[in-house]
Amino acid sequence: VRRSAIAILLLAALGGAALFSTRALWAADTDFAIHFEGSVLPLKSKSVNRVIYLPLVEIAQHLSQPYTDDFRLETFTIGAQNARLVTTRNSALISVNGQVVLLQNPVRRDDSQWFVPVDFLSQGMSRITGIEFRYRAGASRVFAGNVSPTELSLSAQAVSGATRLTLRAGSPVQVEIQRDATQRTVILLRGRPIDPLRERLDYKDRLVESVAFDDSDGIPKVLVATTPEAKEVRITAGDESRVYFVDFTREVAATEAAPPPPPPDIGAGAGAGARRIRLAVIDAGHGGDDAGVSDSGTLEKEWTLAVARKLRSALQNRLGATVLLTRDADEALTSEARAGLANRNQADLFISLHAGYSANENDAVSSIYVIQDGFGSALNPDVEPRDRLFLPWYLAHRNSRPHSEQLATLLQDQMGKSLPEWKFAIRTGPIAVLASTMMPAIAIEFGNLNNPANAQSLTDEAFQTQLAAAIAAAAERFAMEQGTIR
Ligand SMILES: [Zn+2]
Repeated sequence: VRRSAIAILLLAALGGAALFSTRALWAADTDFAIHFEGSVLPLKSKSVNRVIYLPLVEIAQHLSQPYTDDFRLETFTIGAQNARLVTTRNSALISVNGQVVLLQNPVRRDDSQWFVPVDFLSQGMSRITGIEFRYRAGASRVFAGNVSPTELSLSAQAVSGATRLTLRAGSPVQVEIQRDATQRTVILLRGRPIDPLRERLDYKDRLVESVAFDDSDGIPKVLVATTPEAKEVRITAGDESRVYFVDFTREVAATEAAPPPPPPDIGAGAGAGARRIRLAVIDAGHGGDDAGVSDSGTLEKEWTLAVARKLRSALQNRLGATVLLTRDADEALTSEARAGLANRNQADLFISLHAGYSANENDAVSSIYVIQDGFGSALNPDVEPRDRLFLPWYLAHRNSRPHSEQLATLLQDQMGKSLPEWKFAIRTGPIAVLASTMMPAIAIEFGNLNNPANAQSLTDEAFQTQLAAAIAAAAERFAMEQGTIR
């Protein structure tokens, strides 16, 4: 008790030294929410010089904390004897259980209302309540305690006669669409708290005016303002409810076949031709129980991982790209999991690595695989031509196929230059790992492990590094030339 009393005096004394202007301009109220387990506390935040402030009394009340507002001393005290937090008007210093903590910004009292900066929650409240508060700078929400939100990214692109909004969540979410008469579409995201990577999309076209995330009333949703030209909204789910395509179309019922849309434009906003490879996913084929092909002591699953690691370095160095491996250990993965990693991370490029094996040990042909044209049509004969905009998950790769072919051609050419003694053929096939990828994707099968000469080269570290460098060079050419297709 005595220590707190001293702290109050200290704060009162330091209050003068740490005084900030009280004449700062308050910005208008903005919706803000603190997400607790089982409850959401909606607040009206204010901002001063771009610093977000939250009303203190509501927070103390929601957490059932006793408080004393001493108007004369200009202090606000929260908690009881063993867990006491004292704040002083216009001071960034607060006392937490007798210890002085410096906030990044001063606590304010506007008229008779107390406002605290967001770091007051983690620096002050968490120490007296034991609740952890997590905040992403610039966001208008805080997650508290055991609440584990799922990340959400949004992107939009114009396709022929339509605008496609793509929602990608880190874990499955349920989506419901509500449309009102005022050219506004509300996409409700149900099931769990959402942590959007961006509050709004910087996007506008003939059909879509604005796209913004909102959860100020506790219910996460994406608000899309459309123009009168947008007549219909359709939604398609994928990746086990982690990806949703929301398509705004001009006509209610198109009688003509809509041309297939271009590949998802991950670099929305980048100028044509300027698209870079920001993130690449390398798939080391096989793994775990599935060893792939093998000969003379070399297992395909080990070989693919070794080359994948070298290719990772090559792409990082050459393109400055972020590179993810579908596996960085000896583990079994489904094709869906491999493609899913690339899709969830919005990869710009997917390369699956394999080593070959042939009945004829003299064979020495390597292959670059692109998904076969029309893959999946046989699985779902009900897909009407006019529904081609709305693709089921297993057809996701269709849109990227032209770019995959371009990538394969460039790689073949580059291999001819870098490794003239090796022959690469471009083939198509129903390659499962490629079918669900939503970006340019190829599988490469190198040589034949049962060809002694091939095996000797393939297992040579220097050769592996050379291979990786050649693929990275092809990827760079692809990044530069890609804008020419469309
Ligand atoms: Zn293989």
